[in-house]
Amino acid sequence: MDLKQYVTIVPDYPKPGIQFKDITTLMDKGEVYKYATDKIVEYARERQIDLVVGPEARGFIIGCPVAYALEAGFAPVRKEGKLPREVIKVEYGLEYGKDVLTIHKDAILPGQRVLITDDLLATGGTIEATINLVEELGGIVAGIAFLIELSYLDGRKKLDGYDIMTLMKY
Ligand code: AMP
Repeated sequence: MDLKQYVTIVPDYPKPGIQFKDITTLMDKGEVYKYATDKIVEYARERQIDLVVGPEARGFIIGCPVAYALEAGFAPVRKEGKLPREVIKVEYGLEYGKDVLTIHKDAILPGQRVLITDDLLATGGTIEATINLVEELGGIVAGIAFLIELSYLDGRKKLDGYDIMTLMKY
């Protein structure tokens, strides 16, 4: 299946110069969403995943159906102030300024094999921060899966040494 035909490219969103990759036109077609999910499940099965972890919000859209298929758990990574119990946090750089991501302190057991999911790898900042959270709790990042990789932004460089799979490259 040629997944790219289901991604809508929206020019100049959310600001001039950005070619936004809208995956909602992939997700709203059952057989296409299932095909993409199955590909990630296949990748995950080879890596004996105990837990799926994804950053809000599109990391949930990719990761939750994968966790269900694997009969593994899912732990959300969220912006500061959104999780109700004790968290650990990490600060990461955005194009302008900084942001904070958090995860519940008891979300991962030391030694658990974790799959990280998100919709898109751009600069890699979000996933680098997510890796830091997983590893601080003693999780092993056994794989990282994205629907889309923007190769020209070189996000892979930031994630050097990690096992990464992407279904589409631009
Ligand atoms: P980054 O931390 O730079 O890898 O950016 C990652 C997040 O920003 C991804 O989770 C995407 O949801 C979002 N993002 C960045 N660039 C784009 C784009 N061109 N189209 C759609 N989403 C994007």
